[in-house]
Amino acid sequence: MNKIKALLRLHKEVYNIDGLYLEIFKNVSVKDNIKENNKQSSLNILKEKIKNCKNCPLWETRTNTVFGEGNINAKIMFVGEGPGYEEDKQGKPFVGPAGELLTKIINAMSMKREDIYITNIVKCHPLRIPDPKLRNNDRPPNDEEISKCISYLEKQIEIVMPEIICCLGATATKILTKNDLRISELRGKIFDYYANNKIKVLPTYHPAALLRNPSLKPLVWKDMQLIMKLIS
Ligand code: SF4
Repeated sequence: MNKIKALLRLHKEVYNIDGLYLEIFKNVSVKDNIKENNKQSSLNILKEKIKNCKNCPLWETRTNTVFGEGNINAKIMFVGEGPGYEEDKQGKPFVGPAGELLTKIINAMSMKREDIYITNIVKCHPLRIPDPKLRNNDRPPNDEEISKCISYLEKQIEIVMPEIICCLGATATKILTKNDLRISELRGKIFDYYANNKIKVLPTYHPAALLRNPSLKPLVWKDMQLIMKLIS
């Protein structure tokens, strides 16, 4: 796109073909806008659908669904396991202490949170004890919950079309790499997203694991450097 724009600019300067430049440039911009509006409206429709979803029992104890947020044209999508206490309360992904650490990691990659798209495997909070008011009451989603919810994430990926999906933790890694090996064996390796070799999947540790075990931080930083290399 930049090459086309530069060529048109050159034509305009050398041959003074102003009308052609303006007409083509205008069409290119309009096309970009339509694409962007389509993406946004597709995501809005999906978000509304999820708000009313009762496909698995997690709807009964949720305060809010947590759809995901960020740049709809992001090159990098971070995918966690599911909402926790704070996320359920606010309806936003990664807003607790683990979310703060994720923001720091993104900033260390010379990016802002708004440059990235962030979401989870399931969109409602999986609880150990069915009381959403209890803190430290999280559990990983079970197979049934994941199988009922995963199509929403797949649709999000199809709309946003990131270049890289970074799986945060074991659950996202298992589902998106279709691999049962331990996260310690899979992190830092590059996979194709299902059969789509245009989207790469790279697993790393969940920020919550880094809070429990700071010695994992250098490994995660190594994975983030690999991501930066892949998108540049
Ligand atoms: S976790 Fe997913 S499938 Fe289950 S109720 Fe929430 S949105 Fe629906």
